[in-house]
Amino acid sequence: MESGSGPGGRRFKSSLPDQCCQLTPPPGFPAAKGVDLADADSLPFNRAGPVIGYSQESNVRTAAAAYGDRGVNNGVHVGFKDLRGEGKKGKVDPFNSGKGKLIDVEVTIDSGLKGKSLEETVAHEGSHVGDDINFLTSYDFGTGKYDANTNFTGEQTELNGYKTGAGVSREHGFGPKDTQQILNYINSHYEPNYLNNDYFPNNSTFPQ
Ligand SMILES: [Zn+2]
Repeated sequence: MESGSGPGGRRFKSSLPDQCCQLTPPPGFPAAKGVDLADADSLPFNRAGPVIGYSQESNVRTAAAAYGDRGVNNGVHVGFKDLRGEGKKGKVDPFNSGKGKLIDVEVTIDSGLKGKSLEETVAHEGSHVGDDINFLTSYDFGTGKYDANTNFTGEQTELNGYKTGAGVSREHGFGPKDTQQILNYINSHYEPNYLNNDYFPNNSTFPQ
């Protein structure tokens, strides 16, 4: 479940009808804005979207909303691929974005996932999408720079991702408030180089 595995993402197109999979929110729970998830050519994904979009956990709803509304071109693209060989359930690649380019955030979800595990992954990766979009939309056309305060380390975005995913499922053995357990898990599963450095390097592509 890494994100930002480097450049070279794929582009995906939407082909599902708009009426797919609308759910009525349970009473008392505000729906995420983007619950009719955009842009994914997959019925399971479009079922998982509303489920997490109506979660009781606000960060899960926020993660659902990060994918955007159907038909709105927000630069987030979702596709499916067998990721088992990579040992991942999902990944997010925002690195085709940058100064002078359109926002392009490529989400890939393992095509074999279903049920809670799919929902957990959609939530986790949606959290990364939110972090990425928050940085990418900080670009100031006046100064020609992104806001460094919206940048984050790999550890920070994974902490957000696992907290969000744990609000859907405890499949990794921790709950959304078990911060220390999540940090232990992250530090034993990811490279220090990824965890400790700024996710978006301060260079000519992402000047800050
Ligand atoms: Zn992740």
